[in-house]
Amino acid sequence: MQNNTMSLKKENQCIDDKKFAVINPCKMCQPMGAVQVLLGVKGAMPLIHGSQGCSTYMRFQLCRHFREPINVSSTSMSEGTVVYGGEGNLLKALNTIWKEYRPELIGVTSSCLTETIGDDMSLIIKKFKNSHPNEDLPPIVPISTPSYSGSHVDGYDKAVKSLVENLARPEEDNHKINVIPGIVSPADIMAIKDILKELGMESIFITDTSESLNSPLTDDVSFLPDEGTKVDEIRESANSIATISLSKHADSAGAFLQKKCGVKSISGPLPVGVRNTDQFIDYITKIKGIEVPESIQRDRGKMIDAIVDAHPYNYSRKVAIYGDPDVVTGLSRFVSELGMIPSIVCTGAESNRFVQDMENIAEENNISPVVLAGRDLYDLHQQVKCMDIELLIGNSYGARIAEAENIPILRMGFPVYDRLGAQRISILGYKAGIRMVDTITNMMLENYYDESGHEIMDFQ
Ligand code: SF4
Repeated sequence: MQNNTMSLKKENQCIDDKKFAVINPCKMCQPMGAVQVLLGVKGAMPLIHGSQGCSTYMRFQLCRHFREPINVSSTSMSEGTVVYGGEGNLLKALNTIWKEYRPELIGVTSSCLTETIGDDMSLIIKKFKNSHPNEDLPPIVPISTPSYSGSHVDGYDKAVKSLVENLARPEEDNHKINVIPGIVSPADIMAIKDILKELGMESIFITDTSESLNSPLTDDVSFLPDEGTKVDEIRESANSIATISLSKHADSAGAFLQKKCGVKSISGPLPVGVRNTDQFIDYITKIKGIEVPESIQRDRGKMIDAIVDAHPYNYSRKVAIYGDPDVVTGLSRFVSELGMIPSIVCTGAESNRFVQDMENIAEENNISPVVLAGRDLYDLHQQVKCMDIELLIGNSYGARIAEAENIPILRMGFPVYDRLGAQRISILGYKAGIRMVDTITNMMLENYYDESGHEIMDFQ
């Protein structure tokens, strides 16, 4: 990207471009996304080929967001293995995981360290398989996730692609659609499954964390996800009618399946708000050759009714939105539907697609947001300080900005660790849209109106 601070609103250049460090990043490293994919595969064990701190960090971050026990194994690299190579550690780790846990799949992600020393994970995995010739080993999938480039969003995309590259096998057509949900909550995956059920469309989610990262409390202790997409379903994905990647930044597997197996690939947008959800429903009904069912039309109508009711309170309110690129663009279009103005949008990913999507949203709504791509929350804060932002929407990392500037914050995206219920936050589809209209509007009423319903005016 030539210029990663794209300001569509040129007069608001408040950022110190002489800053040489990232402060309060708006992204995480690649294995963080890859591990989330693997936790959605039934019986899978994620293995990070790196130092132990990497897996501790993933487990800590995922645990405090999903409030579930998270198992991520590590090859536990040390000074010696960095100098002499990590082959021995990876072989030992694979052996231990296989003997102790009998997983249905092992996903091996690399890390900064093992990418830098150049360990050939595919070759080491081959050696492991050759040393166990008579055993019924599970699929072992290498996932290259060099963490000094890209973000957790790229790691997610690479993990899904590696799964289909290694497992998908063309056989007979199955009349299903593949859904690559992207980094969304378990509740969001459930919402999409419900819509597909209403439309009578069978699906394969690659992958499905709706139960594995939002599971009931039982007496059983399970070290591997006992719910999620089955390995055989990923194999079967080569025989589907189409692949819908809800996130435009997670469509590499869809492109691969299109090229290699002739499965049509559809890329985004994330079905947030009326227009994006309409587009999703339209894809499915066209593929299925059916009319939109009455029940879905009624949900859509109720969402529009909620937007109309809320319009006087939301109209022209300035919002700053930050987080993963597809979530930010989805929410930007949604708040525009409410009559609000997405005045600043920020993502840590250096993504031209994000900038292009924001340009389209700006043109559709005749607005000029400040677009920060490949930037951090320090930059967001500087920009917030020089604009009259009335609502922040994003993950828990922005809570400090909200507090410092006395702006209400709606927590969503990943991670949300300072409030309970992140696994139940849903933004996809009409039903979730109605709840979001209520939540946002009530925040406006609480912060900008008195108890009689009159707007509090600031004449300073
Ligand atoms: S940035 Fe690198 S060292 Fe840090 S957790 Fe990620 S993979 Fe591990």
